[in-house]
Amino acid sequence: MTHFVLVRNYSVLMKRIASFLAVIGIQIFFFGNKVWGFSAHSYLPSATTNRREMELSMSSGGVPRKLVIVGGGIGGLASAFDARHNFRPTDEITVISDRDKFYFTPSNPWIATRKRKPEDISLDLKQILPRHHVNFVHGKVSNLDTKLQEIHLDNGSKITYDYMIIATGPRLAFDEIPGSKDFGLSVCTTPHASHAADVVDTLVLDPGPVVIGSTQGASCFGPAYEFLFLLHTELKKRGGQALLDQCPMTYVTSEPYIGHLGLKGAGDSQKILEDLMAKKKIESYTNCKINNVAPDHLSITKVDESKTFQLPSKLTMLIPPFRGHDIWKRVPKLTDEKGMIRINEFQQSPEYPNIFSVGICCSIPPVDKTLVPTGAPKTGYLIESQGTAAVLNIKTMMDHAEKHEDDESAGLPELSNRPLLNGLCITDFGDDGAIFLTLPQYPPRRTDITMHGKLAVMAKIAFEKYFLHKIETGDTDPYYEKYMLHLIGVDRVTSKKKTN
Ligand SMILES: Cc1cc2nc3c(=O)[nH]c(=O)nc-3n(C[C@H](O)[C@H](O)[C@H](O)COP(=O)(O)OP(=O)(O)OC[C@H]3O[C@@H](n4cnc5c(N)ncnc54)[C@H](O)[C@@H]3O)c2cc1C
Repeated sequence: MTHFVLVRNYSVLMKRIASFLAVIGIQIFFFGNKVWGFSAHSYLPSATTNRREMELSMSSGGVPRKLVIVGGGIGGLASAFDARHNFRPTDEITVISDRDKFYFTPSNPWIATRKRKPEDISLDLKQILPRHHVNFVHGKVSNLDTKLQEIHLDNGSKITYDYMIIATGPRLAFDEIPGSKDFGLSVCTTPHASHAADVVDTLVLDPGPVVIGSTQGASCFGPAYEFLFLLHTELKKRGGQALLDQCPMTYVTSEPYIGHLGLKGAGDSQKILEDLMAKKKIESYTNCKINNVAPDHLSITKVDESKTFQLPSKLTMLIPPFRGHDIWKRVPKLTDEKGMIRINEFQQSPEYPNIFSVGICCSIPPVDKTLVPTGAPKTGYLIESQGTAAVLNIKTMMDHAEKHEDDESAGLPELSNRPLLNGLCITDFGDDGAIFLTLPQYPPRRTDITMHGKLAVMAKIAFEKYFLHKIETGDTDPYYEKYMLHLIGVDRVTSKKKTN
């Protein structure tokens, strides 16, 4: 019996995906020594670093142009490395982050179930960025002066920019759900997930009911499902069916149906997730609003039935609403009412042409008008493609400004690079997993494929190692990835004009 179910029969696509994974495997084997721990003490420069060093030694001079990126997550780093590859060696690229480490957030559900330790999924920005000729400033941005083009840090220092990319991710709005910060858990950051792992250990010793889910206004659902099923598998591993029986599990969500994901579903997400819930005897409540969280229970209202329930819970993990950071909200017309950075189709602020934004912090409207509000998820590959588009557009602006330095009438250039917003998501559900390929991620889609089975778990592990390898080598859009994904119809950016 095959463990891998291809929901729709795309054999050519499968062959292409297989060769893609093979190429990635070879790359990681040869260049991923640091990530795999083959060599703990010595750093072998990657092919990419050599190429950059060669280019730098041939530096063409010219006035340095300054790009400052705020945020050291997937969005910030993908943008920084794309900029380093596309800009002149003399152009200055700086990343400011209030964390001096990069954490691979998609592995957080593994941290919370002790399949990973934080050090397994983190990389030191102080070492990595300078190695790839990107300045790193460890500090918290506290203010932005758009007139002077100055970024203020909370230690009093100021950094000027010609162009800026805001990639500060979400503010986790636990304050909107009373009690959720004090009595609920989170897997949204790696330190949060580490704390959740401690609470899981306590639950094993002192079992009780478990409630996991996503709140009203949440825009990230995948990790809640992952943690739910991973925890189920973990409890079974640690205490067998007896422990599972003592820890009845419930899933609560603002989604209108299981597997909606804020996306009107992705491939066969509804069927896969409903079947898994039934198989694992997990009760679920959809269309839910969380009223409050207490130490031993939470109150929810099932809005479609106008009924309020009290669910007993010894371990509660809820994905909160994602909002923007207050610093950006203070800048006139930079953000929407939730503090997310307003952007046009080129990732550019319509108000401040030299400010761009990528990742969770940018404003994208909900995909669906649901009874209980849900938001549009922003996933890793989509975020990387936003970074590529932003960088290419900034390069267009830099080159234009330089060419027309003495011509005040030249105005701003027409930008052309739009992210294609394709989605490629790999999930681990404990005993098996699923790969969702959604082109584009937000409907209407031209391709919507789900692959469900045990191989997805291996793909997720490979993806984690591969992504850390990309950060380590300072190349988040390597030629082999570009080529292989192109073969399966997945590209990051288009410069074609919109036809509709
Ligand atoms: C638990 C979880 C699992 C996920 N799993 C997947 C998955 O499997 N696949 C997938 O495609 N997507 C997944 N996502 C979605 C998405 O890919 C990730 O959330 C991704 O990390 C978002 O990247 P980002 O750069 O936008 O934000 P973040 O990773 O949050 O990075 C923001 C950065 O900005 C910094 N920062 C914030 N404020 C300031 C400030 N004032 N000054 C300086 N620095 C600041 C932060 O320290 C951080 O470095 C997941 C999301 C979560 C929460």
